[in-house]
Amino acid sequence: MKVTDHIAAAQGKTLFSFEVLPPLKGNTIDSLFGTIERLMQFDPKFIDVTSHREEYVFKKHESGLLQKIHTRKRPGTVGICAAIQNKFRIDTVPHIICGGFSREETEYALIDLHYLGIDNALVLRGDALKNEGSFTPDPHGHAYAIDLLRQVKNLNQGKYLYDEVQNSNPSNFCIGVAGYPEKHFEAPSLKADLKHLKAKVDAGGDYIVTQMFFNNEHFFKFVADCRAAGITVPIIPGLKPLTAKGQLQSIPRNFHLNLPDDLIEAVEAAKTPEAVKQVGVEWCIAQSKELMAKGAPVLHYYTMSKADETEQIATALF
Ligand code: FAD
Repeated sequence: MKVTDHIAAAQGKTLFSFEVLPPLKGNTIDSLFGTIERLMQFDPKFIDVTSHREEYVFKKHESGLLQKIHTRKRPGTVGICAAIQNKFRIDTVPHIICGGFSREETEYALIDLHYLGIDNALVLRGDALKNEGSFTPDPHGHAYAIDLLRQVKNLNQGKYLYDEVQNSNPSNFCIGVAGYPEKHFEAPSLKADLKHLKAKVDAGGDYIVTQMFFNNEHFFKFVADCRAAGITVPIIPGLKPLTAKGQLQSIPRNFHLNLPDDLIEAVEAAKTPEAVKQVGVEWCIAQSKELMAKGAPVLHYYTMSKADETEQIATALF
């Protein structure tokens, strides 16, 4: 079932959903299943599975020579979605990214998803490689999420690449896009970012899911700006509890957002790692309660594939 159908069926009730990461290459899926098992009691309507592009690593040989190797550390998004759907009978939302993928590879992944009965996809550009200054698309891939979205939209109309197919069975993906309440870091202004977001929705984005934020005012303003710009699709807030003192630096650095002073002070005053986690969980519960009261269609949690904090938060809410 599509994300937008779940939202429509809920008739205004706030739904619960969360995001997980594929396991690191070489690990089993068991620990991920364990996380999902613990969160099933809160009746999630869908689970997002992130997607990770190839990276370069340097392997040192006995001779001392370094060999540059391409590797994907967290492969398997399509297979994991299928495994989750099969085991838990729950809808999954694979993330599909431009970075590191050609149009052909994307088409094959979409065809696999269609055969598997997965009818949701969150389309994203992806970030630059760690050793790249800025995002470089695959030579045969897409430069922006909107280009990828158009490919999915085409497939939904039975238009395959190169028009070589004898039959043109259409897919039926509900397409999500990303939004940034505090602006995507590359955009010159919030207004410019909003213009590109509107273009994604106008091109067929069915719903928006946001980057995490720790001050609800950013989200409320973002929703108001979207509505004023004529964006009418559901906007799902993405939430993550802060879980360690080091995240006071790493979250702003990695996700390009601001943390509220009250939260910073509470974390700095916490005496133990457990106390920091408690501050993060309580902050996220307070955020969630307010978002729920103001009618958020879904509360979507970034779990990093760990159940502990999300379980505590969901216990207080769902
Ligand atoms: P886009 O919508 O393409 O926008 C990227 C930038 O380009 C923005 O600054 C935008 O304003 C600008 N822009 C857009 N169109 C144009 C245009 N035509 N001309 C000029 N500028 C333009 N990354 C992963 O690698 N894997 C994941 O699984 C993943 N999941 C995510 C889930 C969510 C909910 C979010 C919010 C992010 C996720 N990301 C993921 C990170 C995401 O890939 C990055 O934030 C990336 O830098 C931007 O992706 P986007 O889809 O928003 O890009």
